[in-house]
Amino acid sequence: MREHTQDRCVSCVLSASFPGIEFNAEGVCNFCRNKLQITSDAEAIARAKEKIESTISQQRGQGRYDALMCYSGGKDSTYTLMLAVHKYGLRVLSFTLDNGFLSAGAMDNINRVVDGLGVDQVTVKPSSTFFRSVVKASALNDIFGDRALVRISSGCHACISLVNITAQTMALEKGIPFILAGFTLGQIPANGVMYKTNYRFLMDSRKTAMDNLRAHVGDEVDAYYGIRESLIDAVTSYPYTMNLLCLEDITEAEIVRAIEPLGWQRPGDVDGCSSNCRLNTFNNHIHQVKYGYSPYELELSHLIRKGLMARDEALEKIFDQPVDQFQSVMSQLGMTDNDIDSLEPRRQEACSGGLGAMGGT
Ligand SMILES: [Zn+2]
Repeated sequence: MREHTQDRCVSCVLSASFPGIEFNAEGVCNFCRNKLQITSDAEAIARAKEKIESTISQQRGQGRYDALMCYSGGKDSTYTLMLAVHKYGLRVLSFTLDNGFLSAGAMDNINRVVDGLGVDQVTVKPSSTFFRSVVKASALNDIFGDRALVRISSGCHACISLVNITAQTMALEKGIPFILAGFTLGQIPANGVMYKTNYRFLMDSRKTAMDNLRAHVGDEVDAYYGIRESLIDAVTSYPYTMNLLCLEDITEAEIVRAIEPLGWQRPGDVDGCSSNCRLNTFNNHIHQVKYGYSPYELELSHLIRKGLMARDEALEKIFDQPVDQFQSVMSQLGMTDNDIDSLEPRRQEACSGGLGAMGGT
């Protein structure tokens, strides 16, 4: 039998450091060989599609807005916003969390696209002192559990959790029945295509992470990452969160072609894995140093297995991580190379029973 000392699956792009990975004699990983997972994902998508269509037709048109769209200005959320308006006929309120690191090009895209689609837009910008301390704490400490961090970097997870909780608050305050996000399958597990969050269960599942974050950042964490009790007490029904893009089999090139007529242009100051955020390169680097692989490997590998991306294209994205962006973010966060050197490489625990849960930590 041949000995393998390979770094990466020869079929997808998962690294040898990916938790739970095993290669066969041909160098193909167990995730690529798991046909059962592919079939069960397809069944979950078919069920979600049916449920999304029936829920939308039942609950549409009852209030001022049908859906609150978490809109980052990236290509995927732009396409999702377009789907919501054109394909599903929803009246959408677009919501952007400006984390202070959005590319200037992304902000221009947001303005052009919401104007082009004729939707209302709300931008929320948390204090940059607070947000930077969250990103720094997430980079230098173990804030979130391993299970959450197989498909996303800890900095992105901290930001997206803030987006989610802010969206929940706005949807509850305004009585909006649906929250839309632009995730693709691979970024989220199949059970995350459509779900309803019960806030109290969510906060129970997040308790350890929030305790960790509070210990490093301070009590302000509760004001940003929580929903006030009086609002929760008044809830009769939580909004559904839906990821409409998971129902489409579409390549990145097709997405970009579809959104260009709205005035969307790829920003020049982001890395190969992002189309809106300058923090991404930094978050990717921290993940690579700590865990030995890129947080985009799972998503890109999923696209390769579905035939929606070539392996070479995926590798190109993973390696396109401009050093100048990384350095500029480091100085904005008040971090030095010593901080990076102090990070201990470690191996994540393999997750049994599916990879990561939505809304959990
Ligand atoms: Zn593989």
